[in-house]
Amino acid sequence: MEKTANLINQTEANVLHTYNRFQICLEKGQGTHLYDTDGKEYLDFAAGIAVFALGYGNEAYNNALKDQVDKLIHTSNLFYNVPLGEAAEKITKASGMDKVFFTNSGTEAIEGAIKVARKYAYLKDGSNDHEIIAMNHSFHGRSLGALSVTGNAHYQDPFKPLIGGIKFADFNDLDSVKAQITEKTCAIILETIQGEGGIYPATEEFLKGVKALCEENDILLILDEIQCGMGRSGYMFAWQKYGVEPDVMTVAKALGCGVPVGAFVLNKKTAEKSLVPGDHGTTYGGNPLATRAVCTVFDLFEELKIVEHVQQVAPYLEKKLDELVADYDCLVSRRGQGLIQGVVVKDRKPGEIINKAIENGLLIISAGSDVLRFVPPLIITEKDVDEMIEKLKKSLD
Ligand SMILES: *Cc1c(COP(=O)(O)O)cnc(C)c1O
Repeated sequence: MEKTANLINQTEANVLHTYNRFQICLEKGQGTHLYDTDGKEYLDFAAGIAVFALGYGNEAYNNALKDQVDKLIHTSNLFYNVPLGEAAEKITKASGMDKVFFTNSGTEAIEGAIKVARKYAYLKDGSNDHEIIAMNHSFHGRSLGALSVTGNAHYQDPFKPLIGGIKFADFNDLDSVKAQITEKTCAIILETIQGEGGIYPATEEFLKGVKALCEENDILLILDEIQCGMGRSGYMFAWQKYGVEPDVMTVAKALGCGVPVGAFVLNKKTAEKSLVPGDHGTTYGGNPLATRAVCTVFDLFEELKIVEHVQQVAPYLEKKLDELVADYDCLVSRRGQGLIQGVVVKDRKPGEIINKAIENGLLIISAGSDVLRFVPPLIITEKDVDEMIEKLKKSLD
């Protein structure tokens, strides 16, 4: 107890206070469970915000990283390194897309996607006043470009002026997107499944409609798969369910399963007519440690048949959450796809339920202002779902 209090005090004394953290300090993990510095066990249905897809303590993953640490961690992009090409090839094969640029985070992947869209349009007409359409209630990151396309006034207001030429439309409302299109529109950016905003999957009609608008007007479609991608939806990338291929895709979170890495991925048309040497760079991006992690994640996804597993276990989670919604007046509805699920709460604050859950040894998080979010490691079993439901019930009672 004293050790934990000391760690919390040391952190609060020295780390800038931009998070109201839960008052536990996590120390180690095994499978789907985490352990804090008091030795208390938690079932993890947060996965470090949809990151740790493979669960904790996967030996093959840990050994690959240890091996890479002993060989080489960093080279810069002035040279080739061993895992870089293979990591990129795994992404192009899984997506059917053409070229990859590795970043260190999700927000940097979005920055890259915005630059790609502007450069593509610039090469067409040489003008500097192109517009991007983004969605209300979206989340794309905290750096200034990504924040500019994040439809959340609370996050944006203190930091204005943001980048110009951004217009907002309503998610799943094709007419509202149409209304924002002008001859200056160069891209439409959206999450295939909105995550932070409250777990809203795009409807098929909407996604196909947006794609058609993009094709008619030579506008780039940017799909942000940072949270919903990498198997979480029951497809490697959530857009694959709809057969709507983006021009630019962003990935991060589960891409390295904990090693900080993101990427923006371009189709052939966009790769051929956008960024060239000198246009974009990164010191760390694509370094051997990060790209070894990416290679290992893809290998283990295949070996453990993670995508198929998500398709098998997700209906059980949905059924159990639906039963919970039926049983409790404070739970209104469930939405989501695969292992990215949200339950809408009324008359109670999600934060209060989450604090109770933590007391009961369950880690869950919120999304939007009134949604409980379930983004567990992708390796969960029906037994984990049962344990989660039991602990959540205890927290609701
Ligand atoms: C988390 C997230 C981001 C930002 O990623 P960071 O790695 O935190 O910069 C962007 N888009 C979506 C959809 C996200 O969920």
